[in-house]
Amino acid sequence: MTDVVVAGGGLVGLAVAWRAARRGLSVTVVDDAPGAGASAAAAGMLAPVAEAGYREERLLRLGLASLAGWPAFAAELEAASGMQVGLRTAGTLVVGFDEDDVRELDSLLLFQHELGLRAGRLTPREARRREPALTPRVRGGLLVEGDHSVDGRAVHAALLAATRGVGVELVGERVAEVVVEDGRAAGVRLASGGVLPAGTTVLALGAHSGALPGVPPLPVRPVKGQILRLAGAEGLLEHTVRALVRGRHVYLVPYGDGGVIVGATVEDRGFDARVTAGGVHDLLHDAIEVVPEVEELELIETLARWRPGTPDNAPLLGYSSLPGLVLATGHHRNGVLLTPVTAEATAELLATGILPEVAAPFTADRFAVGTSEGR
Ligand SMILES: Cc1cc2nc3c(=O)[nH]c(=O)nc-3n(C[C@H](O)[C@H](O)[C@H](O)COP(=O)(O)OP(=O)(O)OC[C@H]3O[C@@H](n4cnc5c(N)ncnc54)[C@H](O)[C@@H]3O)c2cc1C
Repeated sequence: MTDVVVAGGGLVGLAVAWRAARRGLSVTVVDDAPGAGASAAAAGMLAPVAEAGYREERLLRLGLASLAGWPAFAAELEAASGMQVGLRTAGTLVVGFDEDDVRELDSLLLFQHELGLRAGRLTPREARRREPALTPRVRGGLLVEGDHSVDGRAVHAALLAATRGVGVELVGERVAEVVVEDGRAAGVRLASGGVLPAGTTVLALGAHSGALPGVPPLPVRPVKGQILRLAGAEGLLEHTVRALVRGRHVYLVPYGDGGVIVGATVEDRGFDARVTAGGVHDLLHDAIEVVPEVEELELIETLARWRPGTPDNAPLLGYSSLPGLVLATGHHRNGVLLTPVTAEATAELLATGILPEVAAPFTADRFAVGTSEGR
């Protein structure tokens, strides 16, 4: 029997497995398509500040804690795997196109200053000095120095290598259910029929976490996002650029050698994996408005995946109401950002039975479902 079985080998499941194994636990991860979920689509923005919404201050604090942990996490991961994860620290430029957009930038700036966060207003000329590829039609900007990015797929590949390096076993199968014995999670049953018994079971199935047999009801729902990858943008962008184009949001995230990710739609359509003409059109249209040279780039990939959404956009961490079942899911738009803090907090819980304070507000009992004090 293994100490820990992790259901799900996306960024969150693998990072938890890696950190738990480094704490001396024996760990098995089960996933029939590791890395093919939301983690394949993520733009890789580490953006607690630019993403900060009103009424989401606790999530912002969690995001800032995770952002602070990213440089060390990336360095350790690169050392453990021998692979690069593409951490970029140039910051994020947020730009607006009309007066309403600029007003929204102002209120975002005010909110960030109220929280004591670093962000500064830029004139159109200053914005273009920092990012010459921006259209001259930009009406104003904000520089969020602390918001970084990482290459999400490179992080996943490095986690696969790092988990192998610390003896984590990866089982390439589907989980059919969490096995419950004497009122306690006792491992997982595979779709092929076998059972993997474990001391503790970790639920990290992303958007699929809400519907696994044996798991208490959880408010996790799929939030569809369509995203594009373009190539040929060597030297085009230094920063992540987020834009409000007449009220509509678009972002451009440079990665690798000349890659740019353009995203993303936000749609409540269940597990619909279709890439639509309208979705691609809107993303390209808005990206070209912001950076006209995008028109010349090669469109190399279109993809739709599902963010694991929750009612308050924050993750579900810690013990569930089923003893022996730990939650590491519901990361919605911030799963890449929150990977280090989730991994550290969950590994601490698995090793010591204590959930660190930073993660404590994110147990499922805030929704009065699926959790309790017990393990
Ligand atoms: C378009 C888009 C853009 C995004 N951009 C960003 C961003 O810039 N920054 C950011 O921080 N976040 C971003 N996100 C969010 C981020 O991608 C997610 O929060 C994160 O990837 C969640 O990781 P996960 O490991 O929990 O889930 P996933 O990556 O979905 O992994 C779940 C895993 O579970 C496996 N699985 C599912 N069911 C079963 C089963 N029954 N048995 C076995 N395995 C199973 C799947 O194969 C998958 O590998 C974005 C998301 C989308 C869709």
